[in-house]
Amino acid sequence: MRLQAAMQIAVDQAKKSLCEGNNGFGAVILLGDRIIAQGRDTEETRQDPTAHAEINVIRQASRKLGTKDLSGCILITTHEPCPMCAAAIVWSGIKKIVFGFSIEDALKQGRRRIGIPCREIFSRAGAKVMIEKGPLGDECALLYNGAVRQEIQKLRNATKDQLLMYNEESTRKRLEWFEAKVSSCHGFSDDKIKAGYQLLLSRFNIREDQAPIVERTGKKILFHSKNFCPTLEACRILDLDTRYICRYYNERSTDLLVKQIDKNLRFTRNYKKIRPYSEYCEEMILLDG
Ligand SMILES: [Zn+2]
Repeated sequence: MRLQAAMQIAVDQAKKSLCEGNNGFGAVILLGDRIIAQGRDTEETRQDPTAHAEINVIRQASRKLGTKDLSGCILITTHEPCPMCAAAIVWSGIKKIVFGFSIEDALKQGRRRIGIPCREIFSRAGAKVMIEKGPLGDECALLYNGAVRQEIQKLRNATKDQLLMYNEESTRKRLEWFEAKVSSCHGFSDDKIKAGYQLLLSRFNIREDQAPIVERTGKKILFHSKNFCPTLEACRILDLDTRYICRYYNERSTDLLVKQIDKNLRFTRNYKKIRPYSEYCEEMILLDG
């Protein structure tokens, strides 16, 4: 539980880093049960390529304890330390580290990392450092999810006009997708409302059980979306209000997509029931006229 609480602080620090325009890494140093340092990467805001979260907390802890010997401490970090930070861990004498996301997983995603695991640095240095894969692995993985990162880049400090501009961009992409994929191999229901629903599932790779229909009339399909949504995760990380963001960022492009089936179809949401304020996002396709 102590490690989990410390990792939660590291995750919160990583979120702050992303809000500030840094790269989303957080770290904590424990001495016994006491947190003696917590911090995040500040590479961008300080224009310092060495200002990684681990280096920042090692400096903080050494200043606080008045010694460069941190051999009694544990370092908890959201991401496996890079070779520079692993070397700093060796020089600090830290004997145990706990991390969330691994360098190996980052490389698999195609992220730019120096491909040397920290255990290799420790072993080449002859340092006995215990390495533990930490708690909150899923939360850490979300911080480094490629689709979530793309959304963070767009949504961080976005004005309403920028959101509307992104909406136009999405519209263009969605209509291109419709032209390329759908007009050649239709396969959707003859029932227009149902076809609109199937079209959305197909476009966003959502299974029917991830967006179950909860109400169906001749004029409406109401469904509860619970699928993985990078926009939602980015809003959670940046502490943005989805009731505002999603309205301007992607409602119109989704509406225009369903209108490709029939101009009387309309997509909208109930912004009183939208994640993370509700268990699901209540969305609907209506047939006007
Ligand atoms: Zn580093």
